[in-house]
Amino acid sequence: MKTEFIPNNVFLDFPCGICGSYYELSFVTVALHLDDGTTISDVCPMCLEAGKTGLEERAKERIRLLGEKMERANQMLERIARIDHFPTLQEYRKAEDEAYAEAGFGTVEERENEDAELDPSAKQDPSEDPVEFLLGRKK
Ligand SMILES: [Zn+2]
Repeated sequence: MKTEFIPNNVFLDFPCGICGSYYELSFVTVALHLDDGTTISDVCPMCLEAGKTGLEERAKERIRLLGEKMERANQMLERIARIDHFPTLQEYRKAEDEAYAEAGFGTVEERENEDAELDPSAKQDPSEDPVEFLLGRKK
């Protein structure tokens, strides 16, 4: 296995393949390759700081944390079967709307009208092509 510095122009938070931490990509990233050249992961600056000797500990810690997450997910799976009433999305939206109204933010319709007044472009004609709309090339 080998590493390589590769140029980058996508500045998003990205998960490190070794420790799983999200980090902001820079103009250069370190890619970890299999011997056949297949890229298997990028490596975060914290793993670089840990050095080759610290990588194993960081990978073990990730495995431990993933194990905890998997255990919680399995517990959730067991609990799902015991849920008496699971709300529908419509029930949730109704409760959400009531909570907003109770907090003084108005109904969904009032809030949407308020948003449209603040940003008229937010109220998009659904018949328009969204890409053309975003590019400002309305028909
Ligand atoms: Zn890392």
